[in-house]
Parts: sequence; structure tokens; C-alpha cells
Amino acid sequence: MRCPFCKEDNDKVIDSRSSDAGRVIRRRRQCFCCERRFTTYEKIGESFKLCVVKKDNLRVPYDRDKIIAGLQKACYKRTVAAEQIQQIADKVEEEMFKRFDKEVSSAFIGESVMKQLRGVDNVAYIRFASVYRDFKDADDLIEEVRQVIADTDHADQKKLFQ
Ligand SMILES: [Zn+2]
Repeated sequence: MRCPFCKEDNDKVIDSRSSDAGRVIRRRRQCFCCERRFTTYEKIGESFKLCVVKKDNLRVPYDRDKIIAGLQKACYKRTVAAEQIQQIADKVEEEMFKRFDKEVSSAFIGESVMKQLRGVDNVAYIRFASVYRDFKDADDLIEEVRQVIADTDHADQKKLFQ
């Protein structure tokens, strides 16, 4: 399996788990070259193709890179490590592959990313939410920020506005 980080094709499987009644196998792999870990999903019996249904009903093939790109943008200049971004994408995929096998709505993916991101970095969460939810006006954004602050303990509140 080609390593997503260094593109070398030399890895070992360190953990395998099946989900979706055994139809999907999740493999945690480690690259021999750069030693980084990544996750692959393999569907038994057919090549794995999940369609994403967008708001305008347009269907596009699922692409993990789009989730990663969205996360990287949201985490720009934050302290979120590249590994954490991969982990968030892993969790989103795990939830998604468990529940859907043909089509998944872009809304499900967006909400799932936000759910994961919120526990990791509040600023990144707000950034992602503001793009994803397409806040109509400043009031919507302020309301969301207020909500995050209400749920954040005092020590973290300062960090939010630094
Ligand atoms: Zn590698």
C-alpha cells in the first residue's frame, strides 16, 4: 500500500478490524520508510466506492483528501499536528463507513468533522463551521462562538482569543 506521506510502497499491517458486519476491513499500517502510520479501508468483494451527495444533489466520488484539505485550512497556524488531522479523518471515515455503503450526504461528513474538531481545537472548529455552515450573517457566527465559549472551561477561554 502506498504511504500517503512519503509515497513509498513498503509497509506492515499493525492492526486489522472489520466493521459493517465484516464487509469493511480497516487496517492500521505503518510505513517502513518514514515510520508514519496510516489507515486503509478495504471492502470485501467489490472495490470500495462511496458517493457523496452534495446540497444541490450532485453526486461526486468520496475523496478523503477533501476532508484533509478542509481540516488543514481550519487548522492553519494552530497547534494541531498532522497526525491529529489524519486521526480526525480516520474517525470520520470509521463512522461513515459503518453507516453508509453507497451514498453519504456531504452534510453528514461536515457535521462529523465538526464534532471531532470541536474536541481538538476550538478556533479550528469555528473556522471550519463558518465555512461549512456558511453563516448568513455575523449574528449566526457570534452565536456559535458564544456556544463554544459556554462549553469551554475558563482556562481555555483565554486561548480562544489569542
Ligand atoms: Zn512513508
